[in-house]
Amino acid sequence: MASLSDNIQFVQGVGPKRAELFAAQLGISTIEEMMYYFPYKYIDRTKFYKISELNSELPYIQIRGKIHEFKIIGAGRGKRLSARFYDETGSIELVWFKGLAWITKNYKTNVDYVVFGKPNLFGHNINITHPEIEDAVKFDKSLTTALQSQYSIPEKLKANFISSKTIRTIQENISRQFVSIIHESLPSFLIDKLKLVSLKDALFQVHFPQSSNKLKNAQFRLKFEELFFIQLNLLKQKKNRKEKSKCFIFLREKDNFTKLLYKRLPFKLTQAQIRVLGEIRSDFLSGKQMNRLLQGDVGSGKTLVALLSMLMAVDNGFQACIMVPTEILSNQHYRTILKFIGDIGVNVSLLTGATKKSERKELHNGLQNKTINILIGTHALIEDEVKFANLGLVIIDEQHRFGVAQRARLWQKNEIEPHVLVMTATPIPRTLAMTLYGDLDISVIDELPPGRKPVKTMHFFNNSVLSVFSFLRKEMAKGRQIYVVFPLIKESEKMDYKYLEDGYEGYSRDFPPPEYLISVVHGRMKSAEKEKSMELFIKGDAKILISTTVIEVGVDVPNASVMVIESAERFGLSQLHQLRGRVGRDAEQSYCILMTGDKLSNDARKRIEIMVKTNNGFEIADKDMELRGPGDIEGTQQSGLPFELKIANLAADGRILQTAHNEAEIIIKNDMYLQAPQNQLLLEQLKKLNRNVLNWSKIS
Ligand code: ADP
Ligand code: MG
Repeated sequence: MASLSDNIQFVQGVGPKRAELFAAQLGISTIEEMMYYFPYKYIDRTKFYKISELNSELPYIQIRGKIHEFKIIGAGRGKRLSARFYDETGSIELVWFKGLAWITKNYKTNVDYVVFGKPNLFGHNINITHPEIEDAVKFDKSLTTALQSQYSIPEKLKANFISSKTIRTIQENISRQFVSIIHESLPSFLIDKLKLVSLKDALFQVHFPQSSNKLKNAQFRLKFEELFFIQLNLLKQKKNRKEKSKCFIFLREKDNFTKLLYKRLPFKLTQAQIRVLGEIRSDFLSGKQMNRLLQGDVGSGKTLVALLSMLMAVDNGFQACIMVPTEILSNQHYRTILKFIGDIGVNVSLLTGATKKSERKELHNGLQNKTINILIGTHALIEDEVKFANLGLVIIDEQHRFGVAQRARLWQKNEIEPHVLVMTATPIPRTLAMTLYGDLDISVIDELPPGRKPVKTMHFFNNSVLSVFSFLRKEMAKGRQIYVVFPLIKESEKMDYKYLEDGYEGYSRDFPPPEYLISVVHGRMKSAEKEKSMELFIKGDAKILISTTVIEVGVDVPNASVMVIESAERFGLSQLHQLRGRVGRDAEQSYCILMTGDKLSNDARKRIEIMVKTNNGFEIADKDMELRGPGDIEGTQQSGLPFELKIANLAADGRILQTAHNEAEIIIKNDMYLQAPQNQLLLEQLKKLNRNVLNWSKIS
């Protein structure tokens, strides 16, 4: 009995050699896997052009006609096969550089063909190189419909004469032979509820769409299914872990929290901060471990939420810690938090790579005998000697800088795993977050503190530097401070980018001491030096801070009103947005100035345009995903999707993902182990995916 898990070689038109190529190049070895090799686009093949209408501006087109004669032209590397192809309006040249013998053997003169390809201008004439050619009679009879599927073909396959057409023919053969044995993979209650087309229909229509409407329905069904099983898997894991995990309950709302909130805070919490604190608090009361991702745009006030959460732990007799990716940032958090809590009697300590040995001893003791309530630091916190007496809450700021394994070491410091809150200002698109972190609960601060004016973003070419400088002078005359960021520390041999040392000279010439003091911070400085430079800027003594991107995350100097980004074309969108977030931190107007060379790549120009147009981090994250693709979102590389989606696209299919998420949630809520009869198919399908798809279960 034939089965969809049979080797692809037995399908008509495949055979052992092609099967081997498919396995090596496409990772396809079974019939079923080939059915799930979806077209990447569709082309309208109802329209035929006349040869007299062709010009090189046209995209892929098709024409009908006959080959007049074949000619081999040139020799050696330039050798090519040329064929004159004509219809009643004229003729063009078809050209091949490879597979000459195969072409002359397989195609004949004076036979009706359909030729498909992209017209190019060669000298004064139009030609088509490596066209697809089909027998016109067969073409008319084939499953070819108005929308013809196009498959992406790796070079290695092309070299072996496997084209999009080859795959289409194989899909036709599979379709004819095996469509009857395709088993439905979704239970009927879902199919009915969402009015999905059957798997059979979907798999047929996606390869051979009979109309654009049918194609849309087929794609919806297949995308839904792909995303749905990922969500189902994630939510099942999450529920399972929640069910098992026992964690401390922070019931008491004692002095420290209330004192800070009602007596010491110089402002009111935003609605978003209040909502998120409520979500965190209900986790603390649940008896289960909190695993929460807190997303909030730069400047939305995550630090305060972190502090208040830590105070809830402290008020209940537990210790808390917060880990941040850089020393500058941990110093700053330390200062900020000390300032907030003042003398309310909570003991806060700082631990970084720069902490002296003698201080460390004391610190270790303090953690053991519970005199330290809150510990702030860099990844130095992970070291084995750092032991807490009773760690109740771990907070990780700007979490993408830490690997998953690194983070886990932190919460394994306690016998019972503490509550975990990870905070990120890299607004991960919601869709990506749902797929990557589907097993975390997500909170969002979607509101900035009141009275903030959106940062004005402007783009200047390098030759406008003088007017930019005069603008900076005016801002500084108002008492404001300026950040200047360069992409590199030293001149790179290959690239003509401005670099920090040179830039520093330029700025010092125009802004000389003693009127202006310029501070410099970069990654290669010793931490004490860095700290000193930062201090000068934070205190306001230095008017200008020139730095590399070490300044990117978290730094908070509300008096700074201008962020100048040199060679802005060098930066990714989310990095630019992070940098811009350093200004606009009080009620005055702030500015972000993007300096670039005058030759910009298309993508660079788009990035700059997006930055000038919007301040919304989530919108920027979405654009970023559109421009770069979901596997390459800045900051998520290390946790990027561990496998490719076959048909869904996280940048475009947010609504389908949301539907998939909601349905999976309902099912898991009622039947977390998928024991009910109507869920058996789902359980089977999950098992199959976990077995068959490499890394499938690694998403978490
Ligand atoms: P981020 O989310 O980028 O970490 P921060 O926590 O650094 O943001 O907060 C940015 C600035 O806003 C800080 O100066 C902080 O003191 C201030 N801030 C936080 N919450 C509020 C609020 N509710 N009202 C006014 N200012 C606030
Ligand atoms: Mg922050």
